[in-house]
Amino acid sequence: MNGKLYLVATPIGNLEDITLRALKILKEVDLIAAEDTRNTLKLLNHFKITKPLISYHRHNEEIKVDNLISKLKNGENIAVVSDAGTPGISDPGEVIVKSAIENNIEVIPIPGACAAINALIASGLDTKEFTFYGFLPLNKKARREKLNELKNETKTAIIYEAPHKLQNTLEDLKKIVEKRKIVLGREITKIHEEFIRGNIDEIISKNTNLKGEMIILLEGATKKEEEKNINKLSIEEHYNYYKNLGLDKKEIIKKISKDRGVSKNEIYIKFVKDKK
Ligand code: SAM
Repeated sequence: MNGKLYLVATPIGNLEDITLRALKILKEVDLIAAEDTRNTLKLLNHFKITKPLISYHRHNEEIKVDNLISKLKNGENIAVVSDAGTPGISDPGEVIVKSAIENNIEVIPIPGACAAINALIASGLDTKEFTFYGFLPLNKKARREKLNELKNETKTAIIYEAPHKLQNTLEDLKKIVEKRKIVLGREITKIHEEFIRGNIDEIISKNTNLKGEMIILLEGATKKEEEKNINKLSIEEHYNYYKNLGLDKKEIIKKISKDRGVSKNEIYIKFVKDKK
């Protein structure tokens, strides 16, 4: 019989934020696949758990999966953990989950801490609908496109950022957000936890000496702002904006034609004929 694949959330700072069920599963599984085995070893030592560890991180995810799947097929139960928080959320996990499903292996989430959700609920911004952006791309073109998407995002946006890149990302956001509210969630669940709220200029001026882990939340654009921003785009940018939202060619043409008040045919002939 196949073993089971558990995705176990671990604390994002405060070690008390681990569930009883997570500890039970970590004690019971045959093997723990960890993003950084040294980090996880510290966590296991703290809870007096002794268990074989195998490294499973972003750079070896594809390679390690086959090995882990064959162990699962041999009946071993495996827990995947990341350095902090929920596996698969800007952390390894996605690849093995897809492969486990293809191989009829049961996938079981063990819920717990996640920086994005905890920052969101304490932010004071809209929680009814939100978009998780994870880390913004580093590639210049991809980043510009993502920033365009953010400019028109009408839902609360959640962005992860590494501490040393925060200032740069805030400067990029300054170019697109104007008056929208921003919240920085810093060191959530740790001693220096704080939520810094304000507009982009206030946030940038307060950020200069801040240290530690940070998450950025951005108030959604109003419909009016979205329309105003869209009107400033070239047709090419307009096309890519909807493409990045996952719309197909037909839907994109329909939307652009409505936004710009021109016929669908005109858009098709002028700009889209050669696009895939
Ligand atoms: N899988 C994790 C989760 O469930 O939240 C996220 C991992 S991602 C590699 C790390 C990023 O999450 C950090 O760069 C930061 O943006 C955010 N983060 C993690 N822990 C945090 C904390 N305690 N306070 C604020 N942000 C945190």
